Amino acid sequence: RTLPLDSSEEPGPRTVRAACFSTVTPTPVTRPRFVAVSHRALSLLGLSGDEVAADPLGPEYLSGSRVMAGSRPAAHCYCGHQFGQFAGQLGDGAACYLGEVRAPAGQRAEPGHANPSGRWEIQVKGAGLTPYSRQADGRKVLRSSIREFLCSEAIFSLGVPTTRAGSVVTSDSKVIRDINYDGNARYERCSVVLRIAPTFLRFGSFEIFKPADEHTGRQGPSYGHNEIRGQMLDYVIGTFYPEIQQNHSDRVERNVAFFREVMLRTARLVSQWQCIGFCHGVLNTDNMSILGLTLDYGPYGFMDRFDPDFICNASDNSGRYTYQAQPAICRWNLGKLAEALAPELPPDRAEAVLEEYMDLYNCFYLGTMRKKLGLLRKEEPEDEMLITALLQTMHNTGADFTNTFRSLAQIPCPTEGEDGVVKEVTDLLLEQKRLARELEGQNNVQEVLDDRLRVMNSTNPRVVLRNYIAQNAIEAAENGDFSEVQRLLKVLEDPFSAQPSLEQPAKEGQGTAGEAEEEP
Ligand code: AMP
Ligand code: MG
Ligand code: MG
Repeated sequence: RTLPLDSSEEPGPRTVRAACFSTVTPTPVTRPRFVAVSHRALSLLGLSGDEVAADPLGPEYLSGSRVMAGSRPAAHCYCGHQFGQFAGQLGDGAACYLGEVRAPAGQRAEPGHANPSGRWEIQVKGAGLTPYSRQADGRKVLRSSIREFLCSEAIFSLGVPTTRAGSVVTSDSKVIRDINYDGNARYERCSVVLRIAPTFLRFGSFEIFKPADEHTGRQGPSYGHNEIRGQMLDYVIGTFYPEIQQNHSDRVERNVAFFREVMLRTARLVSQWQCIGFCHGVLNTDNMSILGLTLDYGPYGFMDRFDPDFICNASDNSGRYTYQAQPAICRWNLGKLAEALAPELPPDRAEAVLEEYMDLYNCFYLGTMRKKLGLLRKEEPEDEMLITALLQTMHNTGADFTNTFRSLAQIPCPTEGEDGVVKEVTDLLLEQKRLARELEGQNNVQEVLDDRLRVMNSTNPRVVLRNYIAQNAIEAAENGDFSEVQRLLKVLEDPFSAQPSLEQPAKEGQGTAGEAEEEP
């Protein structure tokens, strides 16, 4: 339900009653131009990346500077718990829906990325003020836009559910972001990312309907709309969880099944983050997708050295969102979604669903970790200990997360009765003994070994978006050279490949392109 702007009213911050979307007009930027386009993401919309990139109006449209025919831009009003506290109405002050695009006929839904609605929501992030911008300007700058663009596409290519990014546009419009040490304002270029997802609805989209007396943030008669909440719930389940809608005639049972599915997807998502060493950084409930997608790439980080207490968000003083806290935090967030869905979702039923979470998470995590270690044939109860011991060793030695796992495939299997090739490293020996048992009773040993190598090399990426690599590309782009962003996108689109063809020309004293070194 959208609330039209009163024509007498200037767009800008204001209280919005009885609605959770407002029609808005994106604010044009001056001289928009592409920094990069993602051919793969744009193809979801039936667009050719080459054509879009060559079209003089491409950057105008994909930055929201020109509104496409048929588009009715809108901003979504949502709430959320930020760092454990209910923050009231907080978004969306920076992203603006352009509308929905029907998926082209015959578009193949990738496993784990299926889009049952057959439509893609498209958004411009950084397109200027909305009624929910509060004290901010609704703009995004080049560095944050490049980070969101590259990581959305990197995470997708790693096989992890995520919102997508079709393009990043920069411009000659400027905003102040920092005051320098000398007191001078630092101006940065307004930049806009085109985001694509089946839906951007999030846990916080439902928290806006909580009764007013539970609010500590902005309060007002816009809250407590059970009727709109019911509509949104019906819309989300009917559109994105059609099998749940079809299989349940009883409304409460339907809602429980929906919540259980969101719980399961969330548990699986966070297990995938853990297995690639990805830290989200701002796991507030407003950044939790109702579809179990990775959502909102702000101060995220891929770990270099393995450290369970890794924090990638400089403003996370309490360490709420460390790497190892992510699974439990996501469960906490699911609890907040359940509260927002009560009484449509009975609290005792929600609690029962949440009790399944940790076991499910562990099951997903172990399943992927076993693949990362190449343990494919037999499950042994000791596998969990082996993984813990490996991670402990990595922590003690400061081993690089990505490189260590990628290198494991090089540990030789003791096929000819030799007693461990790399005797001096206990954990490798442990792994070797475990691998020997993996081969026990197998007729075609070579087939098993080939299979193992294939699975490991398609589960352990050689390339992740390391911070310093992103930083290099950002600095080049800030100086007007977009080629490194484009090159990096290509590398990140193929993270499991062993092909060195995409490598960065080696700079002295520096690694290449964030790709794993191949030495164990
Ligand atoms: P985040 O912590 O990135 O999830 O941001 C929380 C909310 O702050 C977002 O939902 C936006 O509505 C709002 N926000 C972030 N950046 C801006 C901005 N530059 N202008 C206006 N609102 C913003
Ligand atoms: Mg956010
Ligand atoms: Mg953000």
